[in-house]
Parts: sequence; C-alpha cells; structure tokens
Amino acid sequence: METLIHNLNINDLDMNAIDEGAAIIRKGGTVVFPTETVYGLGANALAETSVNRIFHAKGRPSDNPLIVHVSNHDMLLFCIGEPLSEKAKKLIKSFWPGPLTIVFKKSKYIPDNVTGGLDTVAIRMPNNKVALELIERSMVPIAAPSANISGKPSPTAPEHVISDMGGKVDMILLCSDTVVGVESTVIDISGEIPIILRPGGVTKEDLEIVLGEVNIDPGIIEKNASPKSPGMKYTHYAPDAQMVIIKGKNISSKILQMAGADIRQGLRVGILTIDANKDKYKGLTVISIGGSDEEAAHNFFNALREFDKIGVDKIYAEALKEEYLGLAVMNRMKKAAGFNIIEI
Ligand code: AMP
Ligand code: MG
Repeated sequence: METLIHNLNINDLDMNAIDEGAAIIRKGGTVVFPTETVYGLGANALAETSVNRIFHAKGRPSDNPLIVHVSNHDMLLFCIGEPLSEKAKKLIKSFWPGPLTIVFKKSKYIPDNVTGGLDTVAIRMPNNKVALELIERSMVPIAAPSANISGKPSPTAPEHVISDMGGKVDMILLCSDTVVGVESTVIDISGEIPIILRPGGVTKEDLEIVLGEVNIDPGIIEKNASPKSPGMKYTHYAPDAQMVIIKGKNISSKILQMAGADIRQGLRVGILTIDANKDKYKGLTVISIGGSDEEAAHNFFNALREFDKIGVDKIYAEALKEEYLGLAVMNRMKKAAGFNIIEI
C-alpha cells in the first residue's frame, strides 16, 4: 500500500498534516506517530476492523493486547468500566501525560481485539505534542503498540519506522528521535499492592513515592515463569545476532576472553557497553549506550538495530544494575538475549 510520510518539526507543528492523520484514523486507517517512549502504530481503538489493521501491519499475535492512548479525561472515562480509584487518581495526577500505562476494567465500547479477549484495558496519556494533537483531533482513543515488526526492537528514530512500517500503514508522522527510548511501565492497581507488569519509563522507585509498596510481577523476571501481562511472554526485541549478557565483576576481561575465542573461529563479534568501559575494547566493534540509565534507555533499541546494520554474529552485552531505569533496560536486554546470561 502507499504510505504518506510527513516530517514534522516539534517547534513548529504542521497542523494540516496532523489533521490529515486524524482524518485517516476516523476513516479506519493506520497512522504511525511519535510518543515520548517509542514510535506507535495507531488506529481507532473503538473500531474492531481498524484495530485488526494494526495486528496485520506488525504481524502481531492476536492474544497480545494493545495499549489505548487518550488525550483527555473524558476519553479515559469512556474507555473504562469502573469508577476511578484513589490509586488511579494519584497515578494520573503524578505521571500523566507520561510513560505510565494503567490497567482498568474495560468499558463496553472497547472491542475484544484491543484487549486480546481480556476484560481489562491498558490505557495511557502520552507526553508528546504530536501524539496528543493526533488523538484530540481524531476525537477517538487510539490503540497503538510500538511501530516495529513484531519481535524486532521498538522504533526510537525516524529511520527505524520507515524501514519497519513503510508500505504497511496509511500514514507515518515523523518527528525527532523519541526521548525516553523504552516503552511505558504497565501497572495493575486492582489488588491491594500494585504490581508492575512491565517495567518501563516510570521507575518502581518513582511509583513507590506515590503508592507506597509496589511489587514486580515475578513472571517477568525469570525465564520460565508465566507473566500476568500476555505480551511479556513473547520473545521480543531480537537483534539478528545471537546475544549474550555478561553479569558480575570484571566483566570486561571475561568478555575480551570470550570474544577473542569467537573471533579466532571467524565470528564477527559486537560489544554493547557503557561509556565508562568502552575504552577497554579497543579495536573491536563496540557500541556504548551512554553514561547514565537515562542514556542507556534512550539508546538501547537503536544500538540493537546498529548491530544488525553492521552485521555481527554475536553480541556480548554488559549487564546494568536492575534499579531505576536500568530495570527497564535490563528487561529488554534479557528478552533480546533470550535470557542467555553468564554470571561471573
Ligand atoms: P506494546 O503495545 O508493544 O507496547 O505492548 C503492550 C504491552 O501492554 C504488552 O506487554 C501487553 O501485554 C500489555 N497489556 C496491554 N493490555 C493489557 C491488559 N489489559 N492487561 C495486562 N497487560 C496488558
Ligand atoms: Mg512492542
């Protein structure tokens, strides 16, 4: 299919292009748009046939539910089939618009294909002007997963979107690289103690300040456990190369030793590291994801795609500390590596 592409300048938005996108959404089409986390692939969340086009474009399994994006309070209330709880009000006040997705009982207006047959719906308000204007002007909530081919790293830059979604959607609205770089945190607040179903842009530590005790779904930490959130069970974010995570002390000498053995066997090796360690791998193919957790989150998916472009057979990745945004990055890293972790 033909894909209309608009390049937008965040400081001087072309509202005509956004209106055109909104018209496509209302007519049942698909529009890729930037959010603060990653690029999203959107369609009218209230229309079953429109939502099917998302699954089709991505090649996404139909039991993996979508996040519904809203731009105002009334839209939220339209989508949910329960009164707003005190916990929900607190979270919305503290983190919306922003990278926090809250799971609610769904209203009768949300079709079953949005929620993968569940009676709950995951909702967030994104903190990006293009996204908010698009939703507002569409006048309907927009269901939008990440705009990548299912299983590939989420798109954080315009070129990722073009290569994954060009020819598969009606319109692409491009803007700058996304800010946060990992997807939203998904939280279930239905029980007494809230549970993080997917770590993401809002950290556990941030959530605890607002809610008190917060647990992490054990199903997302271990390889063979079954996660509460359907999408978390899928392999994800996979680069073309085989990836191994190295965790512990003196990891660079272990990586050098293992990489050396691979190179002598004729393999092309890449190393995923942080700024503080990058000089330890002189002469090798090295990508640093930066000097802080924020930078690591911002750069992680792009680094995986860069390794694909360079063409390596094996990636050795240094583990980060699993706290703050490092928890979200490590969750993606483990999935990208298929939980192939060497602890030393
Ligand atoms: P993506 O759209 O690729 O960012 O993935 C959306 C994530 O939200 C997946 O991990 C889904 O499993 C999760 N999700 C969406 N709806 C629900 C829901 N109703 N309950 C639990 N998790 C959900
Ligand atoms: Mg995704």
